[in-house]
Order: sequence, then structure tokens, then C-alpha cells
Amino acid sequence: MRTLGILGGMSWESTASYYRLLNQGVRERMGGLHSAPLLLHSVDFAGIAELQKSGDWQAAGELLAAAARGLQQAGAGAVLLATNTMHKVAPVIEAALDIPLLHIADAVGQALHNAGIRRAALLGTRFTMQEDFYRERLSRGFAMQIVLPDRSAMTELDRIIFAELCRGSFTTSSRDFYLQQLEQLRAAGAEAAILGCTEIGLLLQDCAAPLPLFDSTGWHVAMGLEWLLADAPLRTNS
Ligand code: GLU
Repeated sequence: MRTLGILGGMSWESTASYYRLLNQGVRERMGGLHSAPLLLHSVDFAGIAELQKSGDWQAAGELLAAAARGLQQAGAGAVLLATNTMHKVAPVIEAALDIPLLHIADAVGQALHNAGIRRAALLGTRFTMQEDFYRERLSRGFAMQIVLPDRSAMTELDRIIFAELCRGSFTTSSRDFYLQQLEQLRAAGAEAAILGCTEIGLLLQDCAAPLPLFDSTGWHVAMGLEWLLADAPLRTNS
């Protein structure tokens, strides 16, 4: 098997899901005692969140590019950046690497495309919902039309991510708020919803949602597994 690098900690709540899902995927495919060859660089998210808030994306990009470079030097053959938001600086990270950065929006876009979805709602941080870097990748790469929550809902969705989900708090009232938004987005014509923040799936797990959900964490992991297992033999009994 190849070795995959994870650039995580943003937040560690969802990086823990990546770790578990990647290992589960390898076990399902290869059986026995097989597990995922991974290298993890987990950052202190407080510093990254400060740079987001102050708009210093240059510094954030340089910090993550150096970490990604470290993963490459340690032997990773590709990197997963385990957050949607920080893909805003994906070009800076890619420029520092000689190995591929497996882009989270491509994983989600391909899954939507394969399911025949043309109009998808997008939930995530304010950066992911309001800025171009994520939506444009979906519209340009996959001809996806994006439906967004209204401005005040975006503020609350974003607040819940940073004040609760990234701190390990998953409450019924926040779950209800997300479900309410999904219902409104369905009424506005969305055929499916992108959980475009890696912690939202933790909030909505086991919920009956009003429209199909495409969890960025799950599809990003699937992309990582495809890369990781490209040269691997099928299931063994050892
Ligand atoms: N994990 C989140 C995301 O997927 C938010 C944390 C961050 O700002 O990186 O966007």
C-alpha cells in the first residue's frame, strides 16, 4: 500500500473521523489485520482560526504548506487537507508539494455528479459558503448550481461550527437549526445538500434529513482510500 498524509486538527473532532474511516476502509477492502499507512500532522487549530478571523490567509497558507511539505519529506505520497475551509489556500499548499493534494471539493463534486445532482445546497463555514474558492470549483468542474442559505442563517451556521462543533459540542437545538435550514434549501430547489464542513456530519449523524446529504468528510475519505488502495491486492485472510 501507499502512504497517505493527513493535514488535520481543523478541528481534531473531524480528523478523528478521518482516521477511523480510513482505517475501516482499508480493513473492509483488505481484511485481516490490515490498516491504513498514514502520516498525520495535526495543527493547533486556535492559531489557524485566529489567522482566518484576521484575514491573514497568506500566513495560514504558509503554515499549512510547511506542514504538508513535512508530510512529503516523511514519506507521504499524497496529502488530504482535512477541512473544507482551508482549501482556500490549496494553491499555496500545492505549490509547496511535488505530490498530489487530493482536493475535497473534487471528491464532493464527483459524488454529486455521479448521483446525477445538478443543484446542491452548500452548508459550511462563512468562508466556504460566501467565498468563491469552493463554489467555483464545483460550478466550473462539475457544472453544479449552488443554493445558499440566507445571510443571517449563514451567520448562525458558522457560529455553531466554531463555537460548538469544533469544540465537541453537538446539541439538539443546533441539530434542529441545521435541519430547518435543509428544509428551506430543499424548498428553494436544492436536490441534495453538501455538508461542506467536516464536522457537520457528526452533528447530523443518524438524522432523517429532508434531502440527500453529501458529507464532505465521507467523500474525501473515499477519495483518499481510492488513492491509498490503488496498488493494493484484494482481500486476504492473513
Ligand atoms: N472543519 C471545518 C471545515 O471543513 C471548519 C474548520 C476550519 O475552519 O478549518 O471547513
